[in-house]
Parts: sequence; C-alpha cells; structure tokens
Amino acid sequence: TSFQEFGLAEAISRALKEENYLTPTPIQAQTIPLALAGRDVVGIAQTGTGKTASFALPILHRLLENRIKPQPKTCRVLVLSPTRELSGQILESFNAYGRHIKLASALAIGGVPMGRQVRSIMPGLDVLVATPGRLLDLVQTNALKLNQVEFLVLDEADRMLDMGFINDIRKIVAKLPIKRQTLFFSATMPKDIADLADQMLRDPARVAV
Ligand code: AMP
Repeated sequence: TSFQEFGLAEAISRALKEENYLTPTPIQAQTIPLALAGRDVVGIAQTGTGKTASFALPILHRLLENRIKPQPKTCRVLVLSPTRELSGQILESFNAYGRHIKLASALAIGGVPMGRQVRSIMPGLDVLVATPGRLLDLVQTNALKLNQVEFLVLDEADRMLDMGFINDIRKIVAKLPIKRQTLFFSATMPKDIADLADQMLRDPARVAV
C-alpha cells in the first residue's frame, strides 16, 4: 500500500511527503480506509506502530470534507489520552499533518493553570487533545461544550483505565452527541476494555497489529 491509495486531501499528502512518510505502517494500512469510510474502529496497537497517524490523517481529511467554522467553546475533534506527554505528542502530530490546513487546535491537560486553556477554547476549536480529568473540569465550569463533537478518539484506553479515568470517561462520553465517529485504541484488550469499547462504539471494525 502507498499513501496515495487512500485519496487523502492534497494538503495532507503534501505534509506527509514533507515528513518523509513513504509507506503506511500496518495499523495505518488497516485503519485509514475504514476511518475514511466513516466506520468506528477498535484498534489493538502499541506505541511506536504509527497509530497516531492512523487516526489523525483520516480525521483531518474528514474535517476538510466539511469545512465549517467551529462554534465558540466547542471542538469538532476530541482526543482523550492518559498523560500530558502523550497528549502533547498527539497535538504535535495533528499540527504537523495539518500544517497546510488552517487548523485551530489546543491541549487541555492537568497540572497547569486553566486560564490559558479556557482562552484557547473560547473561539472554538477543530481539534482538542485532553486528559480526562482536566477535560471534565473545563466542561463543568462551562468553558467547553461537548455537543458539537463529531470525532472522538480514545488513545491508550488500557492506560486510562489503569490510571482510574473510567468514571471520567463515562461522564464525558455521556455528554457527546450520539451521532459521531469513534476511534478507540488500546495496547491490550482485556474484558473490561472490550466492554467499554462495546458501550461507546457503533458496529465497530476491529483491527490489530
Ligand atoms: P506513533 O506510534 O504514532 O507514536 O508513531 C511512532 C513514530 O513513527 C512517530 O515518530 C511517527 O512520526 C513515525 N511514523 C508514523 N507513521 C509513519 C510512516 N508511515 N512512515 C514513517 N514514519 C512514521
């Protein structure tokens, strides 16, 4: 497979060339066509397999298919990740693949003052990458509304559960529109994770590497 076969928007293909991405990794080869077709996806994949691009590239393409200005205090894409470090890396990846797209993106992570995050969300965002606890704080203080989320990504779901984020995740998901696309990634798939995925996804395609 090559990236050309996916039919990604030219602005995204150009960024991939600049990143020197020539061949999709196995998780990308499996996930990208399904996600472009609008399917929910459950992926079993570890860090280092290229899983970030496997969700970021199709989501960026789909954002471009329907270019709308996000409403104030909302985001079109919500990515939940367990740690500040991983959240920062995911945001960097969206910004790198989206460098030829006018993309409003931000981070919502704990351990830093909320003010700057509140201000960055105020005008409305395409992409918000967040840890679950801080995200809920922002929702509960009305700095963020989740009713316009079109794409939800859960990255490293097993780590989020290990870190005790299950209740936060359930509260967040309960506030999201039913009509959305959900991409769910975990390094392992024990029963509690599989059950969570079943509750959150609609007729998901399953991929594993
Ligand atoms: P990830 O598993 O998403 O953390 O990605 C691991 C590393 O692989 C990152 O440094 C990516 O920039 C890089 N990468 C992801 N996909 C590709 C690809 N198709 N070709 C070359 N490098 C890639």
